[in-house]
Amino acid sequence: MTAAESLPATVVTLKPRHALPFFKHHPWVFAGAIRSVQGDPQPGDEVVLHTHEGEFIARGLFNPHSQIRVRLYSWDQTESLDRTFWKARLQSAFQLRVALFGQVGDVTAFRLVNSEADGLSGLTVDRYDRWLSVQFTSLAIALRQELLIELLVELAQPAGIVLKTEKGLREAEGMEITDGLLWGEPPPRPLTVVEHGLKWEVDLTEGQKTGGYLDQRDNRRALARYVHGHRVLDVFCYTGGFGLGALVWGGASEVVAVDSSEAALQLAQRNAELNRVADRWRCVRSDGFKALETLRDAGEQFDTVVLDPPKLTRTRAALPQALRAYHSLNRLAVSVLKPGGLLVTCSCSGLVTREDFEQMLADVAIQSGRDLRIIEVRGAAPDHPVSPFCPENEYLKCYVCHVA
Ligand code: SAH
Repeated sequence: MTAAESLPATVVTLKPRHALPFFKHHPWVFAGAIRSVQGDPQPGDEVVLHTHEGEFIARGLFNPHSQIRVRLYSWDQTESLDRTFWKARLQSAFQLRVALFGQVGDVTAFRLVNSEADGLSGLTVDRYDRWLSVQFTSLAIALRQELLIELLVELAQPAGIVLKTEKGLREAEGMEITDGLLWGEPPPRPLTVVEHGLKWEVDLTEGQKTGGYLDQRDNRRALARYVHGHRVLDVFCYTGGFGLGALVWGGASEVVAVDSSEAALQLAQRNAELNRVADRWRCVRSDGFKALETLRDAGEQFDTVVLDPPKLTRTRAALPQALRAYHSLNRLAVSVLKPGGLLVTCSCSGLVTREDFEQMLADVAIQSGRDLRIIEVRGAAPDHPVSPFCPENEYLKCYVCHVA
């Protein structure tokens, strides 16, 4: 049988004037763009996408339960979404990480597969030492779990693979999946990973995200360049990322680290001990906004303040409210910053654009009467590539600012 003969029968047809984004390789076909679905495709089935005039656009996977009705994977009419296809995509993702990290082992925790950016919409895989932490963000990918695990074992040879699913995804995609060990040995709790000489203990089972915030790795390194002898405030510190980097790599004199999660602070404290900087490290369990107010009212001053809050909005409707929250957070941070201090301010809300964020910083500078200069505009580390076809993929912003 030729490839053309093996084409799947099911055709999804777009409404007129809806095809352009998909010819431009955007991978998400929302329900509202679809005119008709031929036959009765089952959740996860392979389909082809056509224009309203019957022209082939791409091949994808169908999910009747999601607003993203079809996720597109191949724009080649003859390429079937079979084992060979998934293996080639995974190999390509792995090759990029080998190019980035080599075999040296200087960094033992990194993102191996970054969903859309690796042509694998719905699949995220992070490597933590010899373990893989997998996230399925699409039903069709979750339904291919067995094949994907087999390929991950073959290509990455891990000791074990665990599944970790973000809140809300099961409902959005109609997935019935249970987190936990998918294959091999369970990871030790906690598990130790290394980042340029810094040791981290992470918890792949109970921890946030897939265990850690690997996307901030290079931003933590960037900060370290500036902070020799600094008194640093690390707000929303999780397991200590920025603050420990400032102490270990940067030679900061002291870090005050704030987070609302007791579990995170326990790991952060442990990491300070593990890296022999506990004498210069102090954790405060508090709401980030409240901690900043308390420090301001007490007249405390810092040479560097880091703000890395959680996602402040998931919906466009809540965007103005989120921008106000970023504004008051940054305003508070500036109020505890010495003249000539450094503000490292982040946003992982994809809906907040760089323009929005810069406008917020401009307003903060004007209202606080401080001269604020942006000295670095940064994003996620390179093991979290961004797809030019799917700008929604880019979410992390990290601005390093000098505040006179
Ligand atoms: N900077 C960290 C990642 C921060 S993630 C790193 O480099 O690893 C965001 C953190 O904010 C999480 O640890 C979460 O527990 C914490 N958090 C969420 N809401 C908070 C609040 N209102 N006040 C303080 N911390 C909060």
